Amino acid sequence: MIAECEENYRVFALCANSNIALIEAQARRFKPQYCVLYEDNHARDLAVRLGDTSVKVLSGIDGINFIASHEDADYVINALMGQIGLIPTVNALRSGKTVGLANKETLVAAGEIVMRTARENNAQIVPIDSEHCAILQCLQGENTSGVEKLILTATGGPFFGKSRAELENVTVTEALRHPTWSMGKKITIDSATLMNKGLELIEAYWLFGITPNNIDNIEIIIHRESIMHSLVQFIDKSQKAQLSLPDMKMCIRYALSYNNKDEHGHIKRIQYKSCKSDELDLAQMKSLTFASPDYETFILPQLARFAIKEGGTLPARMNAANEIAVDLFLRERIRFLDIFDLVENAVLQHKNIKNPTLECIINCIEETNNEFKRHFI
Ligand code: MG
Repeated sequence: MIAECEENYRVFALCANSNIALIEAQARRFKPQYCVLYEDNHARDLAVRLGDTSVKVLSGIDGINFIASHEDADYVINALMGQIGLIPTVNALRSGKTVGLANKETLVAAGEIVMRTARENNAQIVPIDSEHCAILQCLQGENTSGVEKLILTATGGPFFGKSRAELENVTVTEALRHPTWSMGKKITIDSATLMNKGLELIEAYWLFGITPNNIDNIEIIIHRESIMHSLVQFIDKSQKAQLSLPDMKMCIRYALSYNNKDEHGHIKRIQYKSCKSDELDLAQMKSLTFASPDYETFILPQLARFAIKEGGTLPARMNAANEIAVDLFLRERIRFLDIFDLVENAVLQHKNIKNPTLECIINCIEETNNEFKRHFI
């Protein structure tokens, strides 16, 4: 994907968790000034491997924050996994950068602060999540006062149609078997529980601030094929949707082109030299299917709705509890349905703090982590 943009973009820094071989290959190709790896020992290995280049290798969250706010970078793509992405996003926005946001937890944990930081620093957030990228595209050329509701599509995950009883004994392997998207483990489990759609509800709420700014104007519809990536309904009852094959490269291309506008303010899309198999062929698809979500079994999207209505530290609390619960499930310490119960209890038992500062939110996340550690570790 980057190859298509190679002539138009200079890569200032690259960041990875632990894939040393891949980041080394990318560093040799794109010649960034910095590479950051999360763990110190991985960073030391990479520094040795890149010893014949001028690339500087940093590590940890300090390294990530350094590149995210560096004056030589104007566009930061944040694809960190989980709430750890929050502070680098805030730092990038404080430095006035455009942030291509693939880290939804940032907006879930601290949406109000993040959006305010963007406004105050003349920075902007461009969503890379496929649903939000679709909505962004549907809204181009539209007056926001004509928007009636947003409709997020959801695959329903591997357990679509199953009852609570049928979910009793599902395994990690089964939960990781996503029907259409190939993604990291955490988001794949979030898709299986439908928490991913709960997080995306909150993400859409902050990103698009529809009028009246009400979470109930964002609906969820199950669409198993992941071809229609989301819809906008206008006040004349017309609906617009964006369709493409389920491939994140499309969203990244659009996000990268977002600041590249012609003299009329229209986004100049990046041409994709695809082969036939990369193209959506609706005749071959034959049918697209839709269904209502089963909120009785999959309770988490409605819990997210409740959390955002309550506001304060509650969404951060819900997100923190979910991250721990998913990790415990992946390590086979709890069962699949325990994720639902742990997150619900964490939300219902929370002493909410309204209008929290960023520090308050970080404390809430740490307290939730400590509380779970006491029970499970
Ligand atoms: Mg998504």
